Amino acid sequence: MNIVLLGAPGAGKGTQAAKLVEDAGLCHISTGDILRQAVKDETELGLKAKAFMDAGDLVPDDLIIDLMRERIDQPDTAKGVILDGFPRTTTQAVALDSMLSDLGRPLDAALLIDVDPEVIVKRLSSRRMCRECGHIGTASDAKCPVCGGEMYQRDDDNETTVRNRLDVYEKSTSPLVDYYRGCDLLITIDGDRDPDVVYKDVKGALGL
Ligand code: AMP
Repeated sequence: MNIVLLGAPGAGKGTQAAKLVEDAGLCHISTGDILRQAVKDETELGLKAKAFMDAGDLVPDDLIIDLMRERIDQPDTAKGVILDGFPRTTTQAVALDSMLSDLGRPLDAALLIDVDPEVIVKRLSSRRMCRECGHIGTASDAKCPVCGGEMYQRDDDNETTVRNRLDVYEKSTSPLVDYYRGCDLLITIDGDRDPDVVYKDVKGALGL
């Protein structure tokens, strides 16, 4: 099964993806996670991407498409993938169609986790991430509840950058909702609820 997760930053895509990995054994690919690791490791990609990420802007399509073309061809994707944070533009969606068609693996669904933007601003301003394992928590977690690692606020989770990320989402990424509706692949889930309740709907919609 190959799934695209759509939704504004902070809609809960990462949380739902983690549950799907556990239940369905799919390979989770998050372009945001790959880019953050590249920035940390100061690779050529990381150095090119950092300024865009810090401002909450999109990294240029050609860099992201090259990165995904390489990633999606790795052996761990054979059982299926959950794409989280990719595609984010129509150009990326068209490139994805061509990558999957080359691999003979069609897309099964584009799952939109739908959340009100004002809820998102509040969620992201209090979101914290574990430096060690990437667990997503809140400002009330002194240490990571999973591994005990240090929790930190992502550079791009401050209110100004969050508002820019939401603007970028509206302009560049929300047209993908129509794109996938046109391909008859769109499934919309109300994401403004407890993550476990959202996940029940996700599983039902995917027939898991
Ligand atoms: P995320 O963790 O998905 O919110 O991504 C964090 C940041 O990484 C975004 O604000 C962008 O700067 C960059 N990024 C992640 N995925 C993409 C993508 N598919 N296209 C362009 N930029 C991306």
